[in-house]
Amino acid sequence: MSVSIISRATWGATPWDHDAASDGPAYVPLSSRSEFFVHYDGASHITRTGYAIPRAIEAEHFGNGWAGIGYNFVVSQAGEIFEGRGWDRQGAHCPNHNISGFGVQIAIGGDQEPSATALAACRALYDEACRRTGKTLAKRGHRDGIATLCPGTKLYAWVKAGMPAEGYEAAPTPGGSVIPGGSVARYKVTISGLEYGYGAYGDHVTAVGRALVAKGFGRHYTSGPGPRWTDADTENFSDFQVLLGFTGTAPGGDADGVPGETSLRALLGTLPGKTTTASAPAFPGRDKFRPGANNAYVTQLGRQLVAKGYGKHYSVGPGPKWSESDRRAVEAFQRAQHWTGSDADGYPGPETWRRLFA
Ligand SMILES: [Zn+2]
Repeated sequence: MSVSIISRATWGATPWDHDAASDGPAYVPLSSRSEFFVHYDGASHITRTGYAIPRAIEAEHFGNGWAGIGYNFVVSQAGEIFEGRGWDRQGAHCPNHNISGFGVQIAIGGDQEPSATALAACRALYDEACRRTGKTLAKRGHRDGIATLCPGTKLYAWVKAGMPAEGYEAAPTPGGSVIPGGSVARYKVTISGLEYGYGAYGDHVTAVGRALVAKGFGRHYTSGPGPRWTDADTENFSDFQVLLGFTGTAPGGDADGVPGETSLRALLGTLPGKTTTASAPAFPGRDKFRPGANNAYVTQLGRQLVAKGYGKHYSVGPGPKWSESDRRAVEAFQRAQHWTGSDADGYPGPETWRRLFA
């Protein structure tokens, strides 16, 4: 199935360079991509069609203070694929996954039924993403990245089922033999600053292999284990994940052999790598973030917003004096959680704080 993408110019996107201070979202090399996130539009059914779909999302995301549509692509019920951030720019769709993950919205909401045409188009887009990156990208729903209802029950079930699509034929990825959904997962994850999964390299990879062998999960090794993560490492780790009770051994499944924190900790008894702070700093109270407030927590908040990619509102950088820049950056972060109304008023509460520092 070929993928035909309706360009930003065609649907009438506001050009990136309309903002004299910027030429748009940062470029991300394809080699940084390892995940493919599916989203929906939120609680409400979508009745818009055609170019009105991306235009409405653009308007909403401008309202968030973003550079334009936050998704890399948007898929309509009619199967149209609209270019948002495209293949080469950082998205704004899931905190901590905007570089590693492509974000694609299927333009439905609530309990709306996705059309077979939309699902086939999204699946074709996924295959194209794998072809371009040369990887079997992990299939994710937004809620796999952060606590949210997105992409809704129906799309999430579809993602977890491996994104089946009628009439779909798996396209071989470069290198030939890996069929998405049919073979060994070939993507990497980073846990505590260390990479795991196909192609990862280091003593920590050897340590995983040795631990697998020690626990009786070494049957796929013909040599090694060694410092380069191979398909055999993935297959052995998959066996271990299945033992732990995870399901889904196809690429992107929870037992596909690419470690997650839980399985890695279960195997090693600890998480190697740089120690991150165990938990978020305590929320200092709402009164610290009000007009007129001037304290170190405002600076701390602002710096974290910048670190998480919400720095575009600051013209001079975060400081101790609460400003409209702070409020708008917080609001953008809150909207990225799919919060609305007073939950996205730009004033942080304990949950905003917790997620921001998670
Ligand atoms: Zn989402």
